[in-house]
Amino acid sequence: MSSKLRTLEGYRVLTLKYPLDSYVKEFIYKYRVLASHIYWCKRLSIDPDSEVVNTLTRSVKSYWRDNLLDEGDPLYLFKNIERTPIPYKVILNIPLVDAIHERKGAYIRDGKLVLRLDKTREYPIPKRALRLLEKRLKESPDERYVRVLERNNELVVQIVLHKKNVVDVPEDPLLVVADINSDYGIVVHFWDGKLIKTIKLRPPNLSNKRVYTKRLMMLRDRLYNMGCLTERQINIYPVLIRRALSYSYKGWIQQSVARVVRKIRRIAKRHNKRPLIVIDIPEHTSLRDTRLQKTLLSFARSLKNILSWYGIYWIEERLYSSFCPKCGNKLTVYKKTKRTRIMICSKCSFKADRDEIPLYWALKTYKHLLRHK
Ligand SMILES: [Zn+2]
Repeated sequence: MSSKLRTLEGYRVLTLKYPLDSYVKEFIYKYRVLASHIYWCKRLSIDPDSEVVNTLTRSVKSYWRDNLLDEGDPLYLFKNIERTPIPYKVILNIPLVDAIHERKGAYIRDGKLVLRLDKTREYPIPKRALRLLEKRLKESPDERYVRVLERNNELVVQIVLHKKNVVDVPEDPLLVVADINSDYGIVVHFWDGKLIKTIKLRPPNLSNKRVYTKRLMMLRDRLYNMGCLTERQINIYPVLIRRALSYSYKGWIQQSVARVVRKIRRIAKRHNKRPLIVIDIPEHTSLRDTRLQKTLLSFARSLKNILSWYGIYWIEERLYSSFCPKCGNKLTVYKKTKRTRIMICSKCSFKADRDEIPLYWALKTYKHLLRHK
């Protein structure tokens, strides 16, 4: 079989947060203004102001400066910026970017993060984060760099690890079908000559929390109208609520993706096979702009990223769950219980659980790669 090579790129980001002191804050703010100028000049194809360039040269060290001015720098920030869509927030978030290296802007020494901003500063790294970082570094990333930015009055440091894997389509693989469009949430099937395992994941239901927070907001408004809350106090609420709600989705996605990838690697090892992952992603129109869709899409994005990191071959493919994989006829519900929905084809009498139909579609599509059926 002629195999086409493909480069999979995966990222791991470790985010650390520290209190922001006024010197660092000033440094970041100044940098941002200067960087914004360079950014807009680049966008509008005009030459940057010489005074700005002079200020940059004078007050910003070369390892934070080169990626603004030197187009040949491997971490040049504004590559192809003319061709990207109009930004809305990017301009306010321009990070300080550089590789982790002793002679550069950031590095790790004795379990501490050393940043050279306005001057050299040391920040402790929590033990757990350090262990995680060591583990990821052992997986030999191709590139590592640090982003330093200010967010919500905190100093945010992101250690970014980047890995490139050149892979070909596995022959006679362990077939893994991830149906991210299923009614249940996410269904993952493992197939090696037969169905060997199915994992089902349901995104957390935050609607209860929503009802609760809605009531809280109502009470807050009542207090405000009675004059018991100041304008300042009232503005804290939405921020807190938004944070609380979004974080739990994020945590769920991270843990679920880790679980699925762990299972894939373990089963592949046990069966002595390379896995082939077929991912069915929800159509943008079918779920509209719901929270569930956002969660499912971000699960898919994260899954592809982690698979790429490990060099596990994945393909995106539209798999159907309401059409017959044998003859293409529309399926109808044969039997429905609380937990299962058996579908049947009126033409060829194919019958299966609705959750398994995408798996049959994948088996049909990738038949040529599978040795046995
Ligand atoms: Zn049929």
